[in-house]
Amino acid sequence: MDISTGTDLMQLASSLEGDLITPNQGNYDEARTIWNDMIDRKPLGIARCAGTGDVVRVVNFARDNKLLLAIKGGGHNVAGNAMCDGGIVLDLSNMRSVTVDPSSKNVHVAGGCLLSDLDQATQEYGLVVPGGIVSHTGVAGLTLGGGFGWTSRKFGFSIDNLISAEVVTADGSVLTVSQKENDDLFWAIRGGGGNFGVVTSFKFKAYEAGPEVYSGIVVHPWENAKKYIQFHREFVRTLPDEITLFMVLRQAPPFPFVSENAHGKLAVIVPFMYLGNPEKGEELIRPLREFSGTLGESVGMNSFLEWQTGFDELNGHGARNYWKSHHLTGLADGLIDALIEAAENFPSPLCDFFIAHWEGAPSRIDENATAYAHRKVPFGINMHTRWMDPADDEKCVAWVRKVHENTLPFAKGVYVNFLSQEEESRVKDAYSEEGWSKLVRIKSKYDPANFFRMNQNIRP
Ligand SMILES: Cc1cc2nc3c(=O)[nH]c(=O)nc-3n(C[C@H](O)[C@H](O)[C@H](O)COP(=O)(O)OP(=O)(O)OC[C@H]3O[C@@H](n4cnc5c(N)ncnc54)[C@H](O)[C@@H]3O)c2cc1C
Repeated sequence: MDISTGTDLMQLASSLEGDLITPNQGNYDEARTIWNDMIDRKPLGIARCAGTGDVVRVVNFARDNKLLLAIKGGGHNVAGNAMCDGGIVLDLSNMRSVTVDPSSKNVHVAGGCLLSDLDQATQEYGLVVPGGIVSHTGVAGLTLGGGFGWTSRKFGFSIDNLISAEVVTADGSVLTVSQKENDDLFWAIRGGGGNFGVVTSFKFKAYEAGPEVYSGIVVHPWENAKKYIQFHREFVRTLPDEITLFMVLRQAPPFPFVSENAHGKLAVIVPFMYLGNPEKGEELIRPLREFSGTLGESVGMNSFLEWQTGFDELNGHGARNYWKSHHLTGLADGLIDALIEAAENFPSPLCDFFIAHWEGAPSRIDENATAYAHRKVPFGINMHTRWMDPADDEKCVAWVRKVHENTLPFAKGVYVNFLSQEEESRVKDAYSEEGWSKLVRIKSKYDPANFFRMNQNIRP
């Protein structure tokens, strides 16, 4: 019995096939730790579900006992909604199976999988499902917000390759959602996040790629930053969907291919991946490599799986993070100037500006086909503010809020998966006006009491 709430947690614990972790257990602190170290929440219990039956039991228990419920997929979201204070966490981290059918190229992915689980299972068959660029991210949270990565310009966002899903709704029903069944809910979960229920499994379409891909990193010196970004903003828009270039403004990590005296100094880092034959890739990428005076590069054939984990360490667990993000209609000179000035004042050496170019297959899909709406914007920026010492919290958060405000004139909407805590007022910006009304209608139908509210919330 939890004295503060009068809840009989033993009743829940004994009903589960999986475990209920409570504050008096030795693994409680480990179980409540998520990617963003800023989040320090203490739930009454963390229910590590073993399967859909457990998910139904936890949903019913939390709802009947009027307890707040948080859903934890990969636990990666910067806003920290995977953890709650005082309620129950429905933890999917033991539901990690991936089943690949190589003949249909369909892949079943359980709701607690990480991208590394998905990549490893699909690469056994030379296949990929479009996902993100850091392998310890959860498939569920990523997909429910949209899901972009190295292969999405070619094959679409993760949601564009979702065939169906199993969803446990607020009343404890287990629904299959697809184009044919519960199509309103299928529309809503493709961009609307965890607002509508717990997704216990996804069925995706996969594509042939790997085991090696032509890929690499080219590093440009900071003194050329403005010129390079001006070049980049045009160059990437001339390239075929097979090639994806991102751009990162940050202090150069100790890359072995960059001279030591450049390590720790600001630089423009351009990683890319090409899905096609390397000779053609080399030809396409030449202007990037020949752009005046690079600091170094590492370009060639890399294992797809290694490439997918190559950025894990720079984005590891255990740091404090507060992000601000925009979709961008372009990379205007005024924006470039603002970013260069801001980067020269990064409040910590771990900060970066990550700029993605994502036009391609996703932007050819109708903006109302899924809840994810801003398909036509060419670029997105994520202002990754990252530091280690809690004493720097105020300084770092204030700094990025200011940069965000200064760059608002260049923005059109935002990616819901990049919203931080305290950004409830911006959730609507992730959607079209028409899409927002539809999301509210669907939320009112499936979750009229707003039981699923530990998320970037859409109120019924
Ligand atoms: C280092 C880093 C790199 C990233 N890179 C990319 C990238 O390349 N591409 C990209 O698109 N995004 C990227 N993201 C953003 C990422 O998509 C979101 O953080 C996403 O929410 C992570 O999913 P998760 O399952 O790990 O998160 P969690 O924190 O576990 O969940 C986030 C929210 O999603 C919902 N949710 C999670 N699982 C379920 C479920 N099974 N059923 C219902 N709702 C659920 C809940 O509302 C939960 O609060 C990155 C994030 C980080 C921190």
